Amino acid sequence: MPDFIVRSLITTALGFCLALPAFAATQPDSYITRALDKPVPGGVAVVDLGSATDAPKASYQGKPVLVIKEQGNRWLAIVGVPLTVKPGSQQLVAKDASGSRNLAFVVGSKKYPEQRITLKNQRQVNPNPDDVKRIEGEQVVQIQAYRSFSPGTPSNLLLDKPVDGPLSSKFGVRRFFNGEERNPHAGLDFAVPTGTPIKSPAAGKVILIGNYFFNGNTVVVDHGQGFISMLCHMSRIDVKVGDVVPRGGVVGRVGSTGRATGPHLHWNVSLNDTRVDPAIFIGAFQP
Ligand code: ZN
Repeated sequence: MPDFIVRSLITTALGFCLALPAFAATQPDSYITRALDKPVPGGVAVVDLGSATDAPKASYQGKPVLVIKEQGNRWLAIVGVPLTVKPGSQQLVAKDASGSRNLAFVVGSKKYPEQRITLKNQRQVNPNPDDVKRIEGEQVVQIQAYRSFSPGTPSNLLLDKPVDGPLSSKFGVRRFFNGEERNPHAGLDFAVPTGTPIKSPAAGKVILIGNYFFNGNTVVVDHGQGFISMLCHMSRIDVKVGDVVPRGGVVGRVGSTGRATGPHLHWNVSLNDTRVDPAIFIGAFQP
């Protein structure tokens, strides 16, 4: 499979850094860093963990963080930055055989636009008490899924779009439903017709499926080390929990189940239990 896998990224990075050894000595200007380092609220910080034979462990805000091997024995932490983080210095904790240390990284600012959405079903804006009970239960299982931290290295860090189609809503947009502000948009929306096959953006294991009040028919795919995709509003789910899906494997079909004004795919990407802008991983990020 001609996948653009991490190993090929490492080879690319190695070639680049051999051409610029002085630069690499202080800050690895690798393919991964250039592609993914967008340290803003809702973005991704790539933090150099230095060289070591064995993989260091990293955590941020008490949660384990994705660590990948770069050129040589150099390791990088790929940190999801919450939308709620204030710009300024943040601390990553790295642990290896020599002990534990704090590594600082700086988060810049990003302003997200607003969107006003009209829903015919007012219950989707102000759910009734039974709905609230259901929503709370659903949130618990979805957060549990996002907190999974399996040991495998993701097949690819630069993700494939799960569907081909225009973006209809960006990540981070402050949303007002029937004039009332609700949670900001935690993923990307693609406007595509009902029935369009939805492909897994990287290889992974299906860790949760469900039919949820807001997200409708949903599949959660664990790509490894807390790197997780959630795909929502499906008309049909084509996988079951425990299935291992290849990169590009179909997990379901586009629909408009849950809180949706029409057929579309909503896609969340999570790192260290933090929803981040999926556009970063498909090279479509606009700071
Ligand atoms: Zn959406």
